[in-house]
Amino acid sequence: MSKRPVVFLDIDDVLCLNTAYTGYDAEAALRPVGGQPTRRSTPPDLWDRLFALRPRTNLRALHEEFNPWYVVSSSWRTSFSRGGMETVFRETGIAFVAEHLHEIWRTADHKFCFNVAGARRNEILEWIARWHDEKSPWIALDDFESGESLVGHSNAVLCEPGVGFATDKLEQARDLLRMSGE
Ligand SMILES: [Mg+2]
Repeated sequence: MSKRPVVFLDIDDVLCLNTAYTGYDAEAALRPVGGQPTRRSTPPDLWDRLFALRPRTNLRALHEEFNPWYVVSSSWRTSFSRGGMETVFRETGIAFVAEHLHEIWRTADHKFCFNVAGARRNEILEWIARWHDEKSPWIALDDFESGESLVGHSNAVLCEPGVGFATDKLEQARDLLRMSGE
C-alpha cells in the first residue's frame, strides 16, 4: 500500500491572499465563451499574482521533500472542475499539485449537512475514513478562519489570514509529516 502522505489543501489565505486577484478572476479567465476560454480579457499578470510567491515556494519545498498527494478542501473545489483546478495550479506555477492531485481530488461538500463552522473538519475526516490508508501521514493546510473547526487538531497546519503558507508553517508541516512518517 502506498505510504505517500496526503495534503488537504485550502486555497484562500493559504496560497491566494486575495490582494491582487481572487478565485472569481480565475473562474472568469477559465469560463468558456462560445466554447473558447476568454483569454483576451484575462489580465496578463493574473496567474503570476493570483497566488502569493512565498506560499508557492514553500509548498514546492514541502512537495520536494514528501511527494504527497493533494486533495482540495477549499471552497474552490465547488467552483472548478478537476480540469479547471489543474489549469489553475499549472498556470500559477505549481504544476506539481496538478500532477499529484489525488484520484479523489476533493472533499465532499457538506456545508448544508453540518453546521458551517464544523464542515471543513468533518469533510476532511470523512475523506480520511473513506479513502485513506491509515499508515500514511496526512496534514490539513488551512487558515485560522476557514479552518477554525481544525484548531487543536494534531494534523492541522493553520496559516494566518493575509499571510498564508509562511516559512514557520512550512516547518510545522515538515515536523508533522516527519513525525507521522516514522
Ligand atoms: Mg482559507
